[in-house]
Amino acid sequence: MSEVFNFCAGPAMLPTAVMAKAQQEFTNWQGTGSSVMELSHRSSIYMTMAKKAETDLRELMSIPDNYQVLFCHGGGRGQFSAVPLNLLPQGKSADYIVSGSWSEAAVAEAKNFGDINVININQDTKGNSSLLGSSEWPLNPDAAYVHYCPNETVNGLEINTIPETNGVPIVADMSSTILSHEIDVSKFGLIYAGAQKNIGPSGLTIVIVRDDLLGQAQTATPCIMNYKTAADNDSMYNTPPTYAWYLAGLVFEWLKELGGVKEIAKINQLKAELLYQAIDKSDFYLNNIEPQYRSKMNIPFWLKDESLNEKFLSESEAVGLTALKGHRIVGGMRASIYNAMPLAGVEALLEFMQKFEKRNS
Ligand SMILES: *Cc1c(COP(=O)(O)O)cnc(C)c1O
Repeated sequence: MSEVFNFCAGPAMLPTAVMAKAQQEFTNWQGTGSSVMELSHRSSIYMTMAKKAETDLRELMSIPDNYQVLFCHGGGRGQFSAVPLNLLPQGKSADYIVSGSWSEAAVAEAKNFGDINVININQDTKGNSSLLGSSEWPLNPDAAYVHYCPNETVNGLEINTIPETNGVPIVADMSSTILSHEIDVSKFGLIYAGAQKNIGPSGLTIVIVRDDLLGQAQTATPCIMNYKTAADNDSMYNTPPTYAWYLAGLVFEWLKELGGVKEIAKINQLKAELLYQAIDKSDFYLNNIEPQYRSKMNIPFWLKDESLNEKFLSESEAVGLTALKGHRIVGGMRASIYNAMPLAGVEALLEFMQKFEKRNS
């Protein structure tokens, strides 16, 4: 079978080298004669690996010492509940910025746990999708925290500046953008990300939280969602997703070998530029998002003649370019090009798009 480039938004492609390594040690990990997934999370060999994964992530993201790194269950949506349960005390409210469908879903869940102030920043500029700049967000200076989603996976909208909140902790859902470019972690109170986009397989969620935000959870917080419980137990209060943690560790090693986040960011920038340039140049394809707010990870595009959608999808699939169908809420196509998508994958997509355009216009 020829090479397949999988443009799925999540679970997404993993680096081939990582999967080859996992395959090679699948039934005999580090000479134990067992698979890593058969071993106790409390065995010293497992704990050494788990600690190294954390250290590597700290190094990759330059995470300051006054932040905990938690390896959790429950995905991004689990954090939609865990964040208000842990950070929103009685009598306070939290600001939630809505820029697309994931931040909207975060609001719907958070409302179950406290007073949520919703700030919708979606805008329409001459028919194009755009966002209100963060300096104009009407934030509440007394909010317990501000929640936002820097990269809206479904809509292809990105907020690429960190908002100024005058001391109010910033909580960011980085599920589809973590590790794709350098960020200053110290500007955030809490960062979370489901693993299945840019970290590893599904089943694992990374939470990076500043120490001073721990210990104020609502009394009804389930123990497996309590950040302080997780921090006090090195993320092993209950059995963690051990195999996903191991695979995430391999992805971190892969990224370090590649030169870290700084290097992958250059490749990500190039991949996105090539795609947007090709879309903007053609009269056949369209992306109607203001350039400043375009996602570098999830690139939606539409065929001007939508009757060709099915043909585009079946022909792309046939040449090994898979999962290009856009999310049902926005329609059209979407190319998700996370860290594991090589430049060659984007080049193959561009070549297909040009040929498809020629054949059909
Ligand atoms: C995928 C995604 C989620 C949901 O993740 P689950 O792990 O399925 O709960 C939340 N937020 C964003 C930005 C996402 O891309």
